[in-house]
Amino acid sequence: MTSSSPSGQGADYAATASEAYRAALRVIESVEPRVAEATRKELADQRGSLKLIASENYASPAVLLTMGTWFSDKYAEGTVGHRFYAACQNVDTVEALAAEHARELFGAPYAYAQPHSGIDANLVAYWAILATRIETPGLAELGAKHVNDLSEADWEKLRAKLGNQRLLGMSLDTGGHLTHGFRPNISGKMFHQRQYGTDPATGFIDYDAVAAAAREFKPLVLVAGYSAYPRRVNFAKMREIADEVGATLMVDMAHFAGLVAGKVFTGDEDPVPHAHITTTTTHKSLRGPRGGLVLATEEYAPAVDKGCPMVLGGPLSHVMAAKAVALAEARRPEFREYAQSVADNAQALADGFIKRDGSLVTGGTDNHLVLLDVTSFGLTGRQAESALLDSGIVTNRNAIPADPNGAWYTSGIRFGSPALTTRGFGADDFDRVAELVVEVLSNTQPAAGPNGPSKAKYTLADGTAERVRAAAAELLDANPLYPGLTL
Ligand SMILES: *Cc1c(COP(=O)(O)O)cnc(C)c1O
Repeated sequence: MTSSSPSGQGADYAATASEAYRAALRVIESVEPRVAEATRKELADQRGSLKLIASENYASPAVLLTMGTWFSDKYAEGTVGHRFYAACQNVDTVEALAAEHARELFGAPYAYAQPHSGIDANLVAYWAILATRIETPGLAELGAKHVNDLSEADWEKLRAKLGNQRLLGMSLDTGGHLTHGFRPNISGKMFHQRQYGTDPATGFIDYDAVAAAAREFKPLVLVAGYSAYPRRVNFAKMREIADEVGATLMVDMAHFAGLVAGKVFTGDEDPVPHAHITTTTTHKSLRGPRGGLVLATEEYAPAVDKGCPMVLGGPLSHVMAAKAVALAEARRPEFREYAQSVADNAQALADGFIKRDGSLVTGGTDNHLVLLDVTSFGLTGRQAESALLDSGIVTNRNAIPADPNGAWYTSGIRFGSPALTTRGFGADDFDRVAELVVEVLSNTQPAAGPNGPSKAKYTLADGTAERVRAAAAELLDANPLYPGLTL
């Protein structure tokens, strides 16, 4: 059992969690046995595959069990101590704990634990930035006592102010997220958007180019953060750029929050002291329940607090309780070891690809993710993803900068180290993973479609999937998921 394992509390913990799950599954089985069966199978499938999806992890039994309670049955719109519903005293306790752990862990003046997901956290942040920064005429100025008294013309004035703002974010194909101003996303429609990318020669963020775009475009919001950029970001520089043009710096650390929590990213690489608003998911490298968080300076806190019910539905109190448990786990010293191993293991994976002639976007990594360009294997991302899955290796295809195959087929495979590091994989294991990936891709050929070469079809050389699955099973058996947990 390794220190990075979420079940690292010893045999008693595993035995108790086993009892809890066995009993829970019997209860579920008595109503809908097929759900109990799918739940058992999900654990078996997760235990039996190499999970390299960079946005996924394995939360601890304590975090998972916390979600299955009667907190799910409460409505609690509002904030701690100020609810629109009665009898929220226990929700107040867990929400306050989640926020306190988040503030302490990240050194943030203010934390909001209600967002249901990362996207919801971003919507709350956008709402808060608009509400804080854009002065709209007050009711008195418009000659009204109540919002219901405003005329259509008054609403038009308000909308014209709010709906005319600019946002500069990282483009999707260079690693940004849909919610950072991608045109088809609501963020690209509610804001006038412009996107910054990476240097085509190196794949790194070019801060001078970001600054030039900011000077020209004068955004209200500068968004930093990523889902598929394999490098660290200098948030002090991003803040300088934002300050120069009067923009609010919003950092979306959904992917790398675990590396911030674990103090792998410090100084200029820690977004929290530099950003006005920081958003995150809680289920990726942070290893908590599915959900989101918003961290903010005092200036933005009052508007963030109105997230529910202005932007969000009623809080998921059972998930906020689980956030409190996960954040308590992340405050332990073992989590720092875990986060350092996540970074070391991504490095080992990247080195493993490089020494086997793999081509990596930016030539390597210094965070938790690696982006392999699979065109050198003559494959699309779609073909590579499918061939790897056949061989028990779970990854996702991902666009690379200026992707010749577009966002659907893509030319890249994104790998992340957080999940397997939770199982206890070390650097040697990740080197072996790189070897297995290269073995699969070298034995995969694009197949012909009805009109020439297919971007989706492929053939895998006989025996490859079986051979790689057997080799993967050895690694998985040596690093069990939830050791000691039996259903
Ligand atoms: C994953 C991710 C999100 C979205 O999180 P959800 O919980 O799926 O809504 C937002 N921003 C970034 C940068 C992400 O990587």
